[in-house]
Amino acid sequence: MKIGFIGLGHMGNPMARNLLKHGHTLKVFDVVPELVKKLTDLGCESAGSAGKCAQGVEVLITMLPSSPHVRSVYQGENGVIASVAPGTLVIDSSTIDPHTARDVAMDARAKGLAMVDAPVSGGTGGAEAGTLTFMVGGEAADFEKAKPILQCMGKNIVHCGGAGNGQVAKICNNMMLAIEMIATAEGMALAAKLGMDPNVFAGIANTSSGRCWSSDTYNPYPGVLENAPAARGYSGGFGSDLMLKDLTLVTEAAKAAKQPVMLGAAAQQLYQMHSAMGNGGLDFSSIIKLYKKD
Ligand code: NAD
Repeated sequence: MKIGFIGLGHMGNPMARNLLKHGHTLKVFDVVPELVKKLTDLGCESAGSAGKCAQGVEVLITMLPSSPHVRSVYQGENGVIASVAPGTLVIDSSTIDPHTARDVAMDARAKGLAMVDAPVSGGTGGAEAGTLTFMVGGEAADFEKAKPILQCMGKNIVHCGGAGNGQVAKICNNMMLAIEMIATAEGMALAAKLGMDPNVFAGIANTSSGRCWSSDTYNPYPGVLENAPAARGYSGGFGSDLMLKDLTLVTEAAKAAKQPVMLGAAAQQLYQMHSAMGNGGLDFSSIIKLYKKD
C-alpha cells in the first residue's frame, strides 16, 4: 500500500522502517529535515508538508509529540483533514488526550475519512522489534481496516471501543503503572532503611501480595534485577518526562470528567518534582531517587 507517515522521531522512525520491511511504499514528513533524510535514504519519498504527505496515499499514520501537534497537523490550514482524499484510512498513534482525539475524529468523519486513534505501549524497543501493543479507538469497520497495517508494527492490536478509547486505555494504564512504581519504590526504600536486604525483601514481595510488574519485572532498587534500568543508572527504558506527560494528560482528563484520581494526581506531582530536579531523561523507575540517597 502507499502510506503517508508524519512524525519520524524515536518511535516514528522504527515504525516506518517496519512498514518498509513489509513491502509498503512510504511518503514521509517531519519538521526536522535530518529525520526525513534518514528515511529518504531508505527509499521513502519526501512530502515537504503534512498536507502533501496526506495526498495520494491509501493510509496516513501520524506519530507526534502531543495534543497541540496533532491538532495543528490535522486541523490546521492545509493540514491533513483539508488535504486528504475522502475514503483514506487515517491512524493517529500519538499519545494525546481523549477529548482532542474525539474532536479530531469527528472532523475526520465529517470529511468522509475512516479514522482511528491507536496509541502504543512497548517503547522504542517494541517499535524497533515490531512488537508494539496498539490500543485502538474507532468504528469496528475502521479497526478491521487498520489491523493489517498495525500488525506490521505491533504484536497485540486491541479494539478498545469508539473514538478516543485507545487514548483512554493508554493513559489509564500508565496512571496505574506510575502509582504502582511509586508504591514499589517507597516500599523497597523503606525496607532497606529499616535494615532489610533489598534482594531478600524483593523476593518476599514478589511471592506475596505486594507483587506487581514494577516489583518483579522492573524493580527500581539497584542490584535487584540484572536487566532493569536500575542496573544501568536508569538509562534507556521509559523516560520520566514521558511518564509525566501521560500523568498530566490523565489528570486533566479526570478533572474534565470530575472523576477523583487522588493517587494519580499525587503521582503527577511526584514526577513533576522529579523532572524539576533534572531527572526527566532518566527511566521512570528512577523515581526511587526521591526516597533514597544514591
Ligand atoms: P519524538 O519527539 O521523538 O517524535 C515526534 C516527532 O514529531 C519529532 O520528530 C518531531 O519533529 C515531529 N513533529 C512535531 N511537530 C510536527 C509537525 N507539526 N509536523 C511534522 N512533524 C512534527 O517523540 P516519540 O518518542 O517518537 O513519541 C511519539 C509519540 O509516541 C508521543 O505521543 C509519545 O508520548 C508516544 N510514545 C512514546 C514512547 C517512547 O518510548 N518514546 C512510548 C509510547 C508512546
